[in-house]
Order: sequence, then structure tokens, then C-alpha cells
Amino acid sequence: MRITSADVLVASPGRNFVTLRITTEDGVVGLGDATLNGRELAVAAYLSEHVVPLLIGRDAHRIEDTWQYLYRGAYWRRGPVTMASIAAVDTALWDIKAKVAGLPLYQLLGGRSRTGCLTYGHASGAELPELFDSVRAHLEQGYRAIRIQTGVPGLGSVYGVASSPNAVAGADAGAGGSTARYDHEPARRSAVPVEEQWDTRAYLRHIPGVFEAVRNEFGPELPLLHDAHHRLTPIQAAKLGKSLEPYDLFWLEDVTPAENQAVLRRVREHTTTPLAIGEVFNTIWDYRELFEEQLIDYVRSPVTHAGGITGLRRIFDYAAVYQIKSGVHGPTDVSPVGLAAAIHLGVAIPNFGIQEYMKHSPETDEVFRPGYRFEDGLLVPGEEPGLGVDYDEVLAESFPYQAAYLPVNRLLDGSMHDW
Ligand SMILES: [Mg+2]
Repeated sequence: MRITSADVLVASPGRNFVTLRITTEDGVVGLGDATLNGRELAVAAYLSEHVVPLLIGRDAHRIEDTWQYLYRGAYWRRGPVTMASIAAVDTALWDIKAKVAGLPLYQLLGGRSRTGCLTYGHASGAELPELFDSVRAHLEQGYRAIRIQTGVPGLGSVYGVASSPNAVAGADAGAGGSTARYDHEPARRSAVPVEEQWDTRAYLRHIPGVFEAVRNEFGPELPLLHDAHHRLTPIQAAKLGKSLEPYDLFWLEDVTPAENQAVLRRVREHTTTPLAIGEVFNTIWDYRELFEEQLIDYVRSPVTHAGGITGLRRIFDYAAVYQIKSGVHGPTDVSPVGLAAAIHLGVAIPNFGIQEYMKHSPETDEVFRPGYRFEDGLLVPGEEPGLGVDYDEVLAESFPYQAAYLPVNRLLDGSMHDW
């Protein structure tokens, strides 16, 4: 079953997405997500200039061989641009294979291990009353686990807090376009990145009181998560994990930048708060030390950035040896194609943990027409053959790409800091 064409589709229905569409000689079409937030065109160029010409004429059934051909064949290994490109090809080929088999993709991955993927949503508020309203709105939508992010006294906009003072779940608007957003979408449509301010000491003083207030308001049972977004030193991370232990977090995410993975030993020495890391990692090699020393509890890599279903399934199998579970990255920049792939993989693997789920904008869903459903806090794959996503190219063309960047972060004295 030869590949006859591969198209790189760049569009901005609500936000920017890069989608790879592979077509076979029999007219079977497969989709892959290649969106790299804020660096979209680099992946689009890598695919169109260096990958698409290699795909034409290849056997679409040879998924593993194609993965190895693109990974080993590049010589320059790893990295987000390369691995997002490989992910898009791999996901599109799995979509094709499942369509040819006439089965939803999860059936080819071993079949269903659970009814659906437990999700967590993003509650946020600059102050406690808005945060509580946001938690209630998510509970009303059916979410069973909730990430908590708040403003920090003395700082302006900070990571994870929806920009509108009235932001609540369900009050939707496109990313970067409106102030009335339902969730935090940090990529802004602008020629240069927005600059935010940061003060770690102020943050560390504030956060334990926020979790105490949330527990007092919503009780002990609701699973709560928090993202420190790579901003702490090892000893600060240890202090935060320890100070949040009374509030029984489901996980604490990205406490350090983790480029130096060994620093997490120091964090583990001091706290039993579970740790989740890896949304910016893209290969199994990035996890070796974290797994073998059991320095984390959840793997954050998404299908889109970790070499597709083939790459991520290998990472999850390796994680299972150490009783480490999945916790797949699911912001709105993971397209419905990438999310559908995560849901099919998530219902099949034995060591599923939780799936991040920020709802896409109506424009996004109109272009991608995903078959998965959000029911009672779970994401459930559709039963149509393949991934169950059907890209409307004509509609997508009415949403042209617009430059958009993630913010950058400075300390109060002007020093650059991790965002
Ligand atoms: Mg995160």
C-alpha cells in the first residue's frame, strides 16, 4: 500500500496547528499532529522539505521501519522539531492501518483496558473567589480531577491563570483573540512574546495557603494538581513539595527545568508529594535516569512531541517497569489529532494515570471534527475506524496562520527566568 501524497496543513482555527495528511494509492487518508507551540513553521518546513519527499512511494504499512528510517536516518537525533515530525508521520500511518483494518485505533494497540481516560481540567483565578468559581464550573462540567493555579500577590499575569477576571469553564473564546477565555491559553498572537514577571519567594509563600483554602472549601476527596512550570531550584522544589503534603496532591508538575535530571534526587529526599515531568521531553532516552532512579511518578510526554504512538508506547512500557504511570500533556496546542491519539493509547495501556484536557475552541472542533467524547469526566474514543478525526481543509483555509508566541519570563530585577 504505497504512499502517493503527503500534505503539510498549517491553519489557525482558534490557534495555530500543523497537521500532516498522508494519502495512499487506495485513497486511504491518515492524519498526524505536528504542532509545536510558538515554533510551528519550523516543523512545517522540516516535514515539507525533508520528510514528505522521503514518504512518497513507501509502504504505508511499515510503521516501525518508517519510524527507524526517520529517526536513525536523520543522523541528528532527538529534539522537538525532529520528534514532532516523526510523531506526525507515525500517527498518520497508525490512522491509515486502523482504517484499512476497519477498527478504531485502540483495537490495534491491544484493545480496551478501561472505559475511558480520566481527565483533569484547569481551574484558575487571580484571587480565591474566582478560583473557587472556576473549580465549581469544572465540577459542573463533570471533571473529577482539577489543576489549581492562582495569581501571586505583587505580580501581574502569571502562568496558568486565565486572563479574564470572569473566566469560568464553558465561557469560550478563541485563543489569543478575546479576553473572555474559558481556560488559560498562553500563546498570544503577536510579533514578539509577551513578557511576564516572576518572584519565586512570593510564590512559595502564597501557594500553601491557596491549597489549604481549596481543601477547606471542596473537601479531602477531590484530586488536585498543580504546575510549578519549571521555575524552582531543587531546594525550592523540595520545600514546595513538603509544604503541600498536608493537602494530598495528585501530583506536582515540572518543579524544576529537569535538564539536569539528577537534581530531582534532592527533591525526592524531602517530599512524598507525587511528581510529574516530561511535557518538553521527546524521547525514551530523556527518561532513563528519571525511571531507573524512580524520581518521578507520572510521564507528561504527549504523542505529538515524543515520536508518535510508537515512541510514546515504548516510553510507557519502560515506565511500567517502575510503576510509573501516564499523565499525558493535553493543552489546546495538542490538536484534536494529537488528543485522539492520546485517548486511543490511553484506553489501551496498562499503566494509564490521567489525561490533561483543556477543551478546544469551537473553531478548532469544527475544522477537525473529532469523534471522541467527554463524558462524566472521561475522554472516550469514538468507534469509527482509525483515529476518528476528519480534517476539513476548505474550512481550515479560512483560518490562516498568524504568528503567536509563548510568553517569556523575567525576575523583578529584569533577569531572564524560566517561563
Ligand atoms: Mg505543564
